[in-house]
Amino acid sequence: MIKVGIPRALLYYQYYPMWQTFFEGLGAAVVVSPPTTQAILSSGSSRVVADTCLPVKAFCGHVLALVGECDYIFIPAVRSVKRKIYNCSKFLGLPDMTKAVIPESPPILDIDIDINKGKREFYQAIYRLGRRFTWNPLRVRKAAIAAGQAHLKYRQLMSSQGLTPPQAIEIMSSKTEVEPETLPPNPTQANIALVGHPYLLYDEHINHRLIHRLEQAHYKVLTPEMLTTEQLELAITRMVGRPYWTYEEEVVGAGGHYLERGVDGVIGIMAFGCGPDSLMMNMVQRQAARLRTSSFMSLTLEEHTAEAGVVTRLEAFLDMIHRRKRRQAEVCV
Ligand code: SF4
Repeated sequence: MIKVGIPRALLYYQYYPMWQTFFEGLGAAVVVSPPTTQAILSSGSSRVVADTCLPVKAFCGHVLALVGECDYIFIPAVRSVKRKIYNCSKFLGLPDMTKAVIPESPPILDIDIDINKGKREFYQAIYRLGRRFTWNPLRVRKAAIAAGQAHLKYRQLMSSQGLTPPQAIEIMSSKTEVEPETLPPNPTQANIALVGHPYLLYDEHINHRLIHRLEQAHYKVLTPEMLTTEQLELAITRMVGRPYWTYEEEVVGAGGHYLERGVDGVIGIMAFGCGPDSLMMNMVQRQAARLRTSSFMSLTLEEHTAEAGVVTRLEAFLDMIHRRKRRQAEVCV
């Protein structure tokens, strides 16, 4: 059986169930690289120039971790998934960059995804990819339809059940049905929204287990994936009008929504050296200053970010939220 490797980095958290369903529908086995470690990150960093952003360094490390483990590696060039909305240039050149810096990589299965070129081009690209596994166009079509349905189910699972991508992936992989959330919301529990790209929010090595630390401190953690596409798009329209970047929803949309909702705190997470995020996070920060509904902190992560530094900033931020809530309670009594 042909083995297709998928790096556990960058777009993995957005699309893994869809990709897995597609390749398995074509009769392939899917191999995912292990969670990020310091060794994976260091090996990736050693292959690219120093000012490459942290998630791309981690991505290269994950590709290296798959060398010898699979027959092909799937690396799509995702240019645009919505009309006239464009992706960061790093995604556009990902397959070519990987070929150049990791020559020992297994053959790369790449596909150009650019919705601006029209649906016909998109379907042809999927068919060309499927033909690497089967000459039967009906089988490719069936796998593609199942993949689309898996993606919808994945998104719906996260937004309706308040799950993070790793939790939703685990449920979908174990193929168990989830019961709707029955626990009533706790009105006294403080909630903190994390805004940023999934490859920063859910990579526990890169963010020093931020979600785990917040949950340990008894905060309810909210993330962009827990919102519906409509909620995210509405928040973007209210805040900036029309989006320009593909994944603006994860930063501007989620940030705008949670600030309007008046959650206790919003933490914006971005990677050092990321051009799009430096603009988008600035918009969220200015909105936080305008609305004054929630405490806001931005956290910039890079390869040398020390765990102690993250913990200190987090403790100071949580302390600020605690004092603010106490002041509000004093005013209310
Ligand atoms: S959006 Fe920023 S962090 Fe993400 S790949 Fe592009 S430059 Fe890197």
